[in-house]
Amino acid sequence: MKIATLSIGDELLFGETVDTNAGHIAAGCFESGMRVVRHLAVGDDEGEITDALQWLASRYDAVIATGGLGPTGDDLTARAAARAFGVRLALNEAALGHLREFFLKRNLPMSPACEKQALLPARAGVIPNPVGTACGFNFMYEGCRFHFLPGVPREMERMLAETVIPAMQKELAGGPALRTRILKVFGHPEVELERMLGDLRLICPDLQLAFCVEFPEVHVKLRISGEPLEADRRLAELAARVRERLGDSLFAEGGETIDTVVARLLREKKATLALAESCTGGLLAKRITDVSGSSAYFLQGMVTYSNEAKTRLLQVPAGLIAGRGAVSAEVARAMAEGVRKSARSKIGLAITGIAGPEGGSDDKPVGTVFIALAASSGTIAREYRFHGDRERIRSIASFAAMDWLRKHLLST
Ligand code: AMP
Ligand code: MG
Repeated sequence: MKIATLSIGDELLFGETVDTNAGHIAAGCFESGMRVVRHLAVGDDEGEITDALQWLASRYDAVIATGGLGPTGDDLTARAAARAFGVRLALNEAALGHLREFFLKRNLPMSPACEKQALLPARAGVIPNPVGTACGFNFMYEGCRFHFLPGVPREMERMLAETVIPAMQKELAGGPALRTRILKVFGHPEVELERMLGDLRLICPDLQLAFCVEFPEVHVKLRISGEPLEADRRLAELAARVRERLGDSLFAEGGETIDTVVARLLREKKATLALAESCTGGLLAKRITDVSGSSAYFLQGMVTYSNEAKTRLLQVPAGLIAGRGAVSAEVARAMAEGVRKSARSKIGLAITGIAGPEGGSDDKPVGTVFIALAASSGTIAREYRFHGDRERIRSIASFAAMDWLRKHLLST
């Protein structure tokens, strides 16, 4: 089924409102195994809307349009649709009933302007709106099923999920479904992943293999369309191959994130964690505590920004800081050991680095970060060189620490 979307509204073309409906609809279709292949936007202009509807009708099997269903004079979608489909506008009894009920339930008078919202193309089917006045409508024209929804995202989203997607899926039933698997990788750039996995396209010619960068992660997307059970089975086979090739640089799949994976491992391994952060200023503690239930394993996090705080709170020897510098492997180790001891946790994890833009030197340029992990097996510190602006360096440093923690937990 070839699906197109149409966003209607001057505000979208003036740049006043960002078109979030298009993205939401595309994602909703995609999650349900359907694909939007074209997206258009037009202003509140009857001629433009009519043209767009006729153009879409001749090329697509289904169109989801949003906007222009309100009670005001600039809302022209129903009129333009009637013109495009060669029918007249008629008072739709179901839509009128919905409007009456809407106002009655809220004990509000219904203004005559609102009645305009029940004027729909003759023979249109009504799409109920559980949260607003404007009903949507559908119409079959020249083999293309049109679904019209209001522009208000909160209303559109409910109607899409409750009526439009189920109806489209019903029409699709028995036809091929599009299935997707997402495997999330850290530490390999896209080109390297292409080299590692690209030949899967030859092994399986109908596989759509795509790489999507979501800094600092790269998502490997595997897609197959076909009979649902068969597509699932083949995707599972391919995912197993990809897993084998990626090894432990694969950190999560599907809806899991590095944060939820680390949370799960901390629980499974019955580990407890304490953090000492300098350049990340608490980002690592935020990642850990973003996951609900983290109090089961997270004991404390300290942001020790000054040298004095590192010494006072973490017992990092002042001489070590003076001799090696606050950004050094030795200080990172002492921070990890200090916080582990102070919290009596199984694991102590520390970060110290130069996030920039100031503070770099020839031997420790901006982006130099030391991460240390202290556990019963000993303490290890690693040096990293990250690139980018302050935000990027801090974000990747916290991610790298999470990833190391994940690998450490997997190995215990
Ligand atoms: P309408 O159904 O055209 O009266 O739209 C009502 C309101 O919904 C507009 O004022 C916008 O704020 C919002 N809206 C309309 N279309 C979109 C869209 N494509 N994406 C996000 N918001 C929208
Ligand atoms: Mg509008």
